Amino acid sequence: MFPDCLFCDILSGRSPAEVICRSRSHLVMADPAPIRPGHLLVLPRHHCACFEDLSPVLAGGLMRLGQTMARLLKAEYDVPRVGFVITGHDVPHVHAHLVPMVEPTDITSRRYIPLDEVPFALPPRAPRTEIADTAERLRTRFELA
Ligand SMILES: [Zn+2]
Repeated sequence: MFPDCLFCDILSGRSPAEVICRSRSHLVMADPAPIRPGHLLVLPRHHCACFEDLSPVLAGGLMRLGQTMARLLKAEYDVPRVGFVITGHDVPHVHAHLVPMVEPTDITSRRYIPLDEVPFALPPRAPRTEIADTAERLRTRFELA
C-alpha cells in the first residue's frame, strides 16, 4: 500500500468503490466518471506508478483480465470494440481503462484534433446509484460475484 493513493485506499477498503471482481493480483471496478456505461478500471493490487515498472506477471495479468472483461463488455453492450488504455495521469497507480467504444472518439488523442484550443474536462461523475446499478448488473451478468 502507498500513502495518499486513492487506489491503494480502495484496495485496503478505506475508500469505497463499485468492485466488479477481484483476482489474487488484480481488481476490476466501475469508473465513477464513465466515458460510456460499462467503463471499467483494471488495476493491480500492488502499488506501482508506471506500467513499464510492473513485473511481467502483473503486466500479463492486467492484460489477460482486460481481455476477459473486454469480451464480456462487447457482448453486454453490443459494441464492436472495447478500448484499453493506460495513462496514469489521474491516479498514479497503474490502471487500465476499458471503455465500450460507441464512437471512434470515445478514447482519442489530442493529436488527432486539429485545433489549437480544445476545452478539456473529465466526464461528469455519475450518480453513485447509477454506478452501483451498473456494477451490480455487470457482476450478475458476468457471473463474477
Ligand atoms: Zn496505489
